[in-house]
Amino acid sequence: MTTDGGAAGATAGPGHPGTTSVAEGDRPAPALFDAVVGQEAAVAQLRASARRPVHAYLLVGPPGVGQEALVRGFAAAVLCPHGGCGVCSTCRRTLAGVHPDLVEVHRSGAALSVADARRVVSLAQRRPLEGRRQVVVVTDLHLARLAAPVLLKTLEEPAGDTVFVLSADLVPPELVTVASRCVRVDLQPVAPDVLARWLVTEGVDIARAREMAIAAGGSVDRARLLVDDEDFGARRRLWREVPARLDGTGATAASLAAELLGSAEQAVEPLRARHGAEMQALMAQAEATGERGVPGRKDIEDRHNREERRWRADEIKAGLGVLAGAYRDRLVAEVTGARVSGPVRVGERVQELSAAVGYVEGVCVEMIRNPNESLMLEALLVRLSAVTG
Ligand SMILES: [Zn+2]
Repeated sequence: MTTDGGAAGATAGPGHPGTTSVAEGDRPAPALFDAVVGQEAAVAQLRASARRPVHAYLLVGPPGVGQEALVRGFAAAVLCPHGGCGVCSTCRRTLAGVHPDLVEVHRSGAALSVADARRVVSLAQRRPLEGRRQVVVVTDLHLARLAAPVLLKTLEEPAGDTVFVLSADLVPPELVTVASRCVRVDLQPVAPDVLARWLVTEGVDIARAREMAIAAGGSVDRARLLVDDEDFGARRRLWREVPARLDGTGATAASLAAELLGSAEQAVEPLRARHGAEMQALMAQAEATGERGVPGRKDIEDRHNREERRWRADEIKAGLGVLAGAYRDRLVAEVTGARVSGPVRVGERVQELSAAVGYVEGVCVEMIRNPNESLMLEALLVRLSAVTG
């Protein structure tokens, strides 16, 4: 959430019906981290740390792998007057992201600015509103080159009642010093079988869960959105059919590229709907509290746009994975069916299909550096047109 002073999230707390009356020692671990998928090492580290937290933690790992759920579970353990019981009002509000002593600072532009860092500093100087401590969360630390000196000062002279949780996709050289002032917690992409098992518990049938888990590329956020995405299967079929539909003409390549890009655009719809609902909820909240508008609305909209762009790019990458798989399957079929065409022809075909797989995988890698996926996709399909179905 962009709003300082309470992270009004959409996900509800787990509502765990546990008990606090069991004697210390045989009490089961409270359900603070139930919303985290995988990340056992990070959960264990944070759970242990919460008993006597240091002043700053840095979560390092790819986006969408459970950062929010980890932060909320950890914050509940830190803020709860009973050490993280999982059932009290503090725990429940923290897990739902609506506790006033859990505050999040998101960058207001393309990078964390000096102004953003100053907001962090002033929050750190504030007294906790309810309990003995507050948790200040700062996301996208890898984009904090300019803000780093200001943040560093706060991290070096921490106020006693603030616990920082910073998160970053990676630690670039200019942030090594900031990172060195924090306890580092490493997060991993979630393995496909772990994601698939989780999707099954969410009611997805096993075959579809396996497909989705691969398409999610290690991201729980992406997997979660695919569950509500009715067109997921149709989009994968579209990518799989590309080799059969290419007919050697540039016109077909161009129209197929347009179709694939259109489908990637459509794939963003569930995320857009979720963003729309989030904004509606914030507007209703603002109205209820007599505010004239949603505080930080521009920041929230910028974040939504960024997430939607990234989602679209991820969708194309997942599609390219399906396309490479389609050529690989043809390659295998060609090799195993050699008796039909004879060895000479097979040799050429195998080379051609191997090259096709290579082209597709090459574009996947290139997409990380080059944001113009439309041009790259069209160029790829023109190239693949030479490889006959
Ligand atoms: Zn509690």
